[in-house]
Amino acid sequence: MKEVLKSNRLEHVCYDIRGPVAAEAALLESQGHKVSKLNIGNPGAFEFKADEHILENIMSFLPSNSGYCESKGILSAREAIAKSSLAKGFKNVDAKNIYIGNGVSELIVMVMQAMLNHGDEILIPAPDYPLWTASVSLSNGTPIHYLCDEENDWQPNIEDIRSKITDKTKAIVIINPNNPTGAVYSRETLLEIIKIAREYELIIFSDEIYDQILYDESIHIPMASLADDLPIVTFNGLSKTYQLAGFRVGWMIFSGITKPIQSLIDGVETLASMRLCANAPMQYAIQPALEGHQGIKDLILPTGRLDKQRTLAWKMLNEIPGVSCKQALGGLYLFPKIDTDYYQIDNDQQFILDFLKEEKVLLVQGSGFNWPKNDHFRVVFLASCEELASSLDKLAKYLKTRVKS
Ligand code: PLP
Repeated sequence: MKEVLKSNRLEHVCYDIRGPVAAEAALLESQGHKVSKLNIGNPGAFEFKADEHILENIMSFLPSNSGYCESKGILSAREAIAKSSLAKGFKNVDAKNIYIGNGVSELIVMVMQAMLNHGDEILIPAPDYPLWTASVSLSNGTPIHYLCDEENDWQPNIEDIRSKITDKTKAIVIINPNNPTGAVYSRETLLEIIKIAREYELIIFSDEIYDQILYDESIHIPMASLADDLPIVTFNGLSKTYQLAGFRVGWMIFSGITKPIQSLIDGVETLASMRLCANAPMQYAIQPALEGHQGIKDLILPTGRLDKQRTLAWKMLNEIPGVSCKQALGGLYLFPKIDTDYYQIDNDQQFILDFLKEEKVLLVQGSGFNWPKNDHFRVVFLASCEELASSLDKLAKYLKTRVKS
């Protein structure tokens, strides 16, 4: 049989968090090595446990719920999402404009597939969570990256956003709190973005999956609470705040004005129907979760596990010569800068691969987040303080061997 090649649409689609370096880590593990995986924001892999009450609720529905549910998701769950978003100040939310999916991941791909025609441009942050860029490329659109400014606590650079708008720009994506930088956007930044969206009639896609994971008394302001005269699409789910990533439950809320994007919503409806529905029993976790059964509050306090790990990782990274790191105010990640000249790094993926082979610690290179330079990497701080300390010691030791003589 002749060779079957993957579609050309995949030419620019990549997801390095589980890319070639992670494949090398899997190979090392298959050879009996223990690899410290600081590459994925997967709470379940680090002994974060689901809330008992949420699990009980799912179990109580299991025997009677083996069928497909509505393509949008079960009504009681969508109503719980509508109620909780109204409580956060969202404008014009209606359960009929909420879609539940197998994680936010599925919904990002779905909405991009529903919206984009060849050459349509979407503004995406650099660095980004790379699924956004990949989904735009997969959908025949063109991702255009705007810079976030490390010197300004990684807030989006508003001038850069403005300079990148063309007559093909359809929407702007923000990730707040941000993966990979840990930034939480200020009200001023959000209002500036709204101003731009108004001026150029753009849809705002706001990925807020880390909205409850905040440190140092930071406050998260939902984009959809700031305007009722624009279409705003907000993404959230159970993976991070409720530590249920494997359940694959996420949702997408169309709020503000929806009339101008009714055709897009119809397109989403078609695609949601084509895959029949999202995992139905797991949707019974949504209502108890949003009604207050969640374990993140204690973990993010200064005495909590997540905050201690964040502080330790941040301190240890900043103690390494030639490495500097802004503290994360939200999320699960740090995105340190590294002096590439001092450590002789021309290719950040090669650097991360060499470190993995040498010390069996898996990180992700900054370019994997569509950062345009070779000078950053991402550390996930979900591992215990002990594991983080050992891995970052190894990083410091390894980097010494690379210093230019
Ligand atoms: N959005 C961001 C910013 C993320 O960091 C992640 C996962 O790491 C996702 C979406 C994917 O979420 P889900 O597990 O709901 O598919």
